[in-house]
Amino acid sequence: MKTGLLMSLAAMFAAPLFSEPAMHVAIMIDDGPSDNTLKVLDILKAEGVKADFDLIGDNVYSRPELAKAIVKDGHPILDHSLSHKHPSKLDAAALENDIAGGSDAIEEVTGVAPRFYWPPFLEVDNRMGAMIEKHGMKLCQTSNIPQVNDFAANVTAQQIYDNAVNNTKDGSLLLFHEWRNETVQELPAIIRELKRRGAVFITYEEMEKYRASAKGEAK
Ligand SMILES: [Zn+2]
Repeated sequence: MKTGLLMSLAAMFAAPLFSEPAMHVAIMIDDGPSDNTLKVLDILKAEGVKADFDLIGDNVYSRPELAKAIVKDGHPILDHSLSHKHPSKLDAAALENDIAGGSDAIEEVTGVAPRFYWPPFLEVDNRMGAMIEKHGMKLCQTSNIPQVNDFAANVTAQQIYDNAVNNTKDGSLLLFHEWRNETVQELPAIIRELKRRGAVFITYEEMEKYRASAKGEAK
């Protein structure tokens, strides 16, 4: 009797710990390193969140200390090309150069080879797969990206906040651009509000595994 009571009490207290989070979200920070990188790192550290940084090779070469700071804080770095040209406008040689150049820059500067390629402008074509594989990476799945539109010319801080918190769902890749000051300004509030709505933040690689699981696929 007494044991039964203790067990039901234990079950009562244990239940919330083992319940599934309302949503799994991966934050992708695009186009760095930039003047805002250290601010973004401070925010992520304060919130205890890991995010994936999609870095442009040219920016890595011009701001090597910032690329190293991202790695030091334990965030994954993805190849976002050498020079962020439109892949669809490049011939095969130039495309491969842009893909490999981004990866080389990241490895040269940080000592860590990126495992994934995040295509500029989310442009994916059938030439890419073999090139990305040849350079030791995998092409990111660019589906389930909520419409945040922080790259749009006249977007306001309030719109970025509203878009991010209202359009994010289980399995979302929440894509932000670190050069957008309004995004950096709103990032702490966005993360806190999503946490309040039951979000747990995972890396891109963890998201791939989550999506591949039966639970992720059913969404
Ligand atoms: Zn980009």
